[in-house]
Amino acid sequence: MELIEPLRDKNLFFLDGDGVLWMGNRPIHGASRVIKFLRERGLFCFLLTNNSTKSRVSYVEKLQKLFGEKFRLDEVLTSAYGAALYLKEKRANRVFVIGESGLKEELSNAGLKVVDEEDNKSVDFVVVGLDKGFNYSKLSTALKHLYNGAELLATNDDPFLVTEKFPIPGAGALVSAVEICSGRKALTVIGKPNPFLIRLGLEKAGIKPEEAVCVGDRITTDIKAGKAAGIFTVFVRTGTGKSEEHLINETKPNLVLNSIADLMKD
Ligand SMILES: [Mg+2]
Repeated sequence: MELIEPLRDKNLFFLDGDGVLWMGNRPIHGASRVIKFLRERGLFCFLLTNNSTKSRVSYVEKLQKLFGEKFRLDEVLTSAYGAALYLKEKRANRVFVIGESGLKEELSNAGLKVVDEEDNKSVDFVVVGLDKGFNYSKLSTALKHLYNGAELLATNDDPFLVTEKFPIPGAGALVSAVEICSGRKALTVIGKPNPFLIRLGLEKAGIKPEEAVCVGDRITTDIKAGKAAGIFTVFVRTGTGKSEEHLINETKPNLVLNSIADLMKD
């Protein structure tokens, strides 16, 4: 068992979660074998996900549960964690969040004050990620803070998420709702296609871009982020991949495979 030829000299792998390693709570066939192989060889292996609903701690638990592999906290890069780093750099203090517990946890852990809807004092940022409890009241509170001068930050702008049965709306749909009613644009989108998290991973590992690979099922996020960071890109047809065939020619990933299982051959 070996990595396929173009990947043999690579030392760092950024693996997307949804649609590459798993679909919902079901591991994708072959993902386990690839993860075990990379880790046995001592190669750097990062989970790189735009999904901000879970904290890094939860992803460490998920990886352990699905693949029986113990990842360290700093081997998990999420858009929620990236948002926390970004806000700290901006010296933000109070934030209003449209997002789930994982995002709030990462921001609180970074020392930010996550205010609730009843808090009427001003905030520095409105942060928007995927929130399955999104409603009109949260949208109104976000609008109020933006009207009062807060900045807008998006964890990611994925239009939808794949699940085992059918797609569900992604963070991008909620970001658009906030942008439309406020007439504002997010200052930045932390997740892919922004190469921010990839650059962070390269820096943490001390690895040059030409030694790194990113594997993803979405051209508009995973592959574009990899290209922007100057690393080798692998597009897989699992997850969202099936519906993105028409974008391959335009963005030209370095490699197109049917699934993560094809990173290796016997
Ligand atoms: Mg994906």
